[in-house]
Amino acid sequence: MSKVRHVLGISGGKDSAALAVYVKTKYPSIDLEFYSCDTGKELDETYKLIQNLEVYLGLKINLLQGAKKSSEDPFDHFLKMYGGFLPSSQARWCTKKLKLEPFENYVGTDPVISYVGIRGDEEREGYISTRKNIQSIFPFRKNIWSQDVVTKLLSNQNLEQLSEMSKNIGFDKNKDKALQIISRKVDNTFTLDQKLNSLLDADVKAFNHLVFAFLKTTDYPLGTEASFPLLDNDEVLVRSDIFRILEESGVGVPAYYNKIDFEVNGKVGQYARSRSGCFFCFFQQKIEWVWLYEQHPELYKKAMDYEKDGYTWGQTESLEELIRPARMSAIKEEYIKRMERRSKIKSPYLIDILSDEEEEGCAACFI
Ligand code: SF4
Repeated sequence: MSKVRHVLGISGGKDSAALAVYVKTKYPSIDLEFYSCDTGKELDETYKLIQNLEVYLGLKINLLQGAKKSSEDPFDHFLKMYGGFLPSSQARWCTKKLKLEPFENYVGTDPVISYVGIRGDEEREGYISTRKNIQSIFPFRKNIWSQDVVTKLLSNQNLEQLSEMSKNIGFDKNKDKALQIISRKVDNTFTLDQKLNSLLDADVKAFNHLVFAFLKTTDYPLGTEASFPLLDNDEVLVRSDIFRILEESGVGVPAYYNKIDFEVNGKVGQYARSRSGCFFCFFQQKIEWVWLYEQHPELYKKAMDYEKDGYTWGQTESLEELIRPARMSAIKEEYIKRMERRSKIKSPYLIDILSDEEEEGCAACFI
C-alpha cells in the first residue's frame, strides 16, 4: 500500500484557515499537504487569506481547478457545459465540478487522511467522501471520528471484539464503567449517539486509542499508520477559538467578516458577509447581496450578468429586482429588526449572531 497522505483543504473560510494553523503548529510531525479548490470566482479577501496562510505555513497551497485546460475560469467553463443553467441549492453542480471532483482527482487512489474544520460547537458532519481511500478527521471536535467510522465501531456485531481490545486500553479509573458501556448493545433504549457520548465522557483519549486499535482491523487509511498524534488530543475548539487562532497567528480574519455601518430611513445597522465561497453564491442571504451591491458593485454587476435566459440566483427575485430602492430598504429594515432580536449576543463579529445561518450550505465551500 502506498504511503498515507495527510491533506487539509482551505476553503477561504475562517475555520479551515484556523485548522491549518492549529494542526501545523500543534502537530508539526504530521506531513501535511494543503490545497484549495479555486472556482475562479472567489472574493479577493479569500485569495489574500491564502497568501497570508502560505507565508505563515512556509508552504505553497496547491490550487486545484476543475477543467484546468480550459481557457475560461472553471465556473464559466462548466456553466457553458450546463447550458447556462445556474447552480442552486437543489442543483449544486458547482460544488461537484469545482470542489469535489478536483479534490478527488488530486488524491487519486492514494490512501488519504483529510482534516476537516467542523468546530466543536457545530452539529453538522461536513463533507465525507464516498471513496474508501479517503478518511475524514475532525480535530476541533471532541469526537474526531467520522460518522461512518463510529457506526462501524459501535455496531452490535463488534461487542466481543471491542470488549477484548478495551482490556488493553487505559480508561484508568473509569475502566469498569467503560467496559460496561462497550459491552452494552445499541438499541431503542441506548442509541448509537448515547453510546458514543458515554464513551467520550468516560475518557476521550482512551476512546481514541480504542478506535485506532479497531481501525487496524479495517482497511481505513489510518489503520495502516504506526501512530497518530491526535489520539491524545482532547481539546474542543469553538467559534471564539477560531478567531483567536487567526488573530494571534497574524494570518488574520478575512476582511469580509468585518462589520460595516449602513443607514436606512433614519435607522443604523451593520452588515458583513458571513462566509467564503463564490461572490455570487446562491447560499448568501438577502442582506449579503445588498452588502455585495454596496461594497463590491462591480462584482454585483458581474453576478447580474449571469442572470439571463430565465435563470436567477435567488428563488423569488432577480438581482435587478433586489436592488430596487424600496426593496433594498425593506431588506435592510427587516435585517435591523432581526439583529435587534438577537442583540443580546455580544461579539465583534456578525457571524456570531448569524450562527444558525452559518451552518446552512456547502461544507466544501464554507468551512
Ligand atoms: S461557493 Fe456557492 S456557488 Fe461557489 S461552488 Fe460553493 S456552493 Fe457553488
